[in-house]
Amino acid sequence: GTFFCVVLPLGAINPNIQTSTAMLLLQLVAQGQLDMEGALTARDRVGIQDFVLLDETTEAAFLSNLKKRFSKDLIYTYIGTLLVSVNPYKELDIYNKKQMDIYMGVNFFELPPHIYALADNAYHTMLTEFNNHFILISGESGAGKTEASKKILQYYAVSCPSTTLLNTVRDKMLMSNPVLEAFGNAKTLKNDNSSRFGKYMDIQFDSQGDAVGGHILNYLLEKSRVVHQNHGERNFHIFYQLVEGGSDDLLHQLGLERGCQHYNYLTQGQCPIVPSINDKNDWKTVKNALQIISFDETVIASVLHLGNVRFDSDSKGHALLNNNTELHWVSNLLGVDAHRLQEGLTFRKIEAKKDQVLSPFTTDHAIYARDALAKAIYGQTFTWLVNRINESMENEVTIRMMCFYTFEQFCINYCNEKLQQLFIELTLKSEQEEYEAEGIEWEPVQFFNNKIICDLIEEKHTGIISLLDEECLRPGDATDLTFLERLEEKMGNHPHFVTHKLADKMTRKTLERGDFRLLHYAGEVTYCVVGFLDKNNDLLYRNIKDLMCQSKNDIVKECFSSMDPDSRRRPETVVTQFKSSLQKLTEILVAKEAWYIRCLKSNESKQSGQFDEALIRHQVKYLGLMEHLRVRRAGFAYRRKYDVFLKRYKPLCPATWPHWRGVAADGVEVLVQHLGYLPDEYKMGRTKIFIRHPRTLFATEDAYEK
Ligand code: ATP
Ligand code: MG
Repeated sequence: GTFFCVVLPLGAINPNIQTSTAMLLLQLVAQGQLDMEGALTARDRVGIQDFVLLDETTEAAFLSNLKKRFSKDLIYTYIGTLLVSVNPYKELDIYNKKQMDIYMGVNFFELPPHIYALADNAYHTMLTEFNNHFILISGESGAGKTEASKKILQYYAVSCPSTTLLNTVRDKMLMSNPVLEAFGNAKTLKNDNSSRFGKYMDIQFDSQGDAVGGHILNYLLEKSRVVHQNHGERNFHIFYQLVEGGSDDLLHQLGLERGCQHYNYLTQGQCPIVPSINDKNDWKTVKNALQIISFDETVIASVLHLGNVRFDSDSKGHALLNNNTELHWVSNLLGVDAHRLQEGLTFRKIEAKKDQVLSPFTTDHAIYARDALAKAIYGQTFTWLVNRINESMENEVTIRMMCFYTFEQFCINYCNEKLQQLFIELTLKSEQEEYEAEGIEWEPVQFFNNKIICDLIEEKHTGIISLLDEECLRPGDATDLTFLERLEEKMGNHPHFVTHKLADKMTRKTLERGDFRLLHYAGEVTYCVVGFLDKNNDLLYRNIKDLMCQSKNDIVKECFSSMDPDSRRRPETVVTQFKSSLQKLTEILVAKEAWYIRCLKSNESKQSGQFDEALIRHQVKYLGLMEHLRVRRAGFAYRRKYDVFLKRYKPLCPATWPHWRGVAADGVEVLVQHLGYLPDEYKMGRTKIFIRHPRTLFATEDAYEK
């Protein structure tokens, strides 16, 4: 008796709790996961575990439920099968082997919400239905996406059947994480371990459920961070790990000094030391992982030396190398000729018919060329690493939300728009298909459809991307500002686009002349147009590229040779490459079944126990959680197969107890008539009963309890 009280919030929506589950639930009680003492009032004490069961669908009710749960360290809540997670900013004892065992093979609603439940159900649905799945993790920077993905991978690593094959995939997967984080993550103002690249991971299972292969697709590394960091931010972790953790011998070999203060590329943000990060220790892990894939540190060191290469200007304003030492280290480490490297950094090679003319750079130009080389080395190395690792687990996409202002952030936010679009299409679509299949009339919920913003960005010929590419390819006097003018011409009265010139008086005060503002689905973002053309072109001067292709360092050579196979053709612009990789991603995803994890950031100061209501309300809004909830509840909050429903509730009606001799659907009809369901409250589909309000099911469950 007591037992069912404990699980009421779960049991209410899950009719077939089995003994084994019951045992596990008792274990949960023993571990203090479930509150035995407060069992009778469990709904009030720890809130509702599935928002679909809330009495009201107001934002206030939503937030209050979330807060109530958060205060009890219950960071997970469902909206149907969507998992909402609130970053606790503290270690919770819910990710151990014991917990994994509890969730293994158990139905979704039988246990308290957990990321393991979602991982497990995705896995088992895949095995029983033989279809493909993906898990989309979203949320703003610092909300917990990377942590969530790690938890999922750990769960699979432990829970999937173990064979030799799995072990190799698992090893690669576990190894890839520290490497990718070292090279792709950095301390930002928002997150001490912020992922500065998009990641899509894919794992292939065979029909037995064994992991047999995996793949990582990375997109859009924030390369500009290599050469510039904003105040309070750092470069990618790997650099600090190397100069803090590398052995004396290693540093000596690479010509490096210990300590990041010696390197221009590491000190611009003025926060080399971060309390939550132990670069020295992290280095040990990363170094081991790098050894497995035969990566050596010379490339990283070359970037640090490159950042210290400085230029003076001669009397004509032409760039001159200030000091040869650093340059020699760079050429040494990269295995390229020092003289040609120097030439590449201070002259541009212009090909005129048969002649080659060297045209000297100004110092600004030389710095630009130097930084371009550093970014190219790092970016190519990152891609190389990902290719080398080429491994992984269930499909997963990690994305960031909008809170930035530059070209890279424009691309990231565009990515988010696309994924939101996908989310809308898939949630509406699958819901609609279910009603259709069951022969139930569908009552659509009004959504804000962000297609209008996607189009604004990506439409052929008229979208922002097309205009940007056009400006980039236009010979002559194209600049960031002419790009802005083109935007103003074409987008003049678009409801989601505004610039200083186009704005009304009030808005104008909030915009600089070189800005444009997009009204993304998640809110307004103002972009500074400076650098858009350069970054989109991502030009590396031809002579430097050719030089790198001749490097004696195999990794460098491989990186640059693969960069641009046909060197006469103009390479695709960055944004166009990005657009096509998003296109590919979308194609992969629509063919799969979707699972969603929405991560929420609890506060801006990374404090445990703090629930910043305004901040969370904003995220709930732009992640479309209320809309999702409404769609979930619009037609019918709950649906249950006839036989399952009948099996559980048949004791409630003399006509169905102990046996109903007939078709299950008829039995259900008799049963709900007896219970007094109003005609409006339920609909009979082909195989399932649909129940409009959760309270109806609650009442039935309560009756069952008694
Ligand atoms: P970004 O977009 O910047 O990469 P993110 O969403 O990947 O952000 P994470 O790096 O996963 O954010 O999380 C930021 C920090 O929050 C973590 O370093 C960790 O301290 C804390 N955190 C996140 N999720 C959890 C969790 N489930 N339990 C405990 N702490 C967490
Ligand atoms: Mg991350």
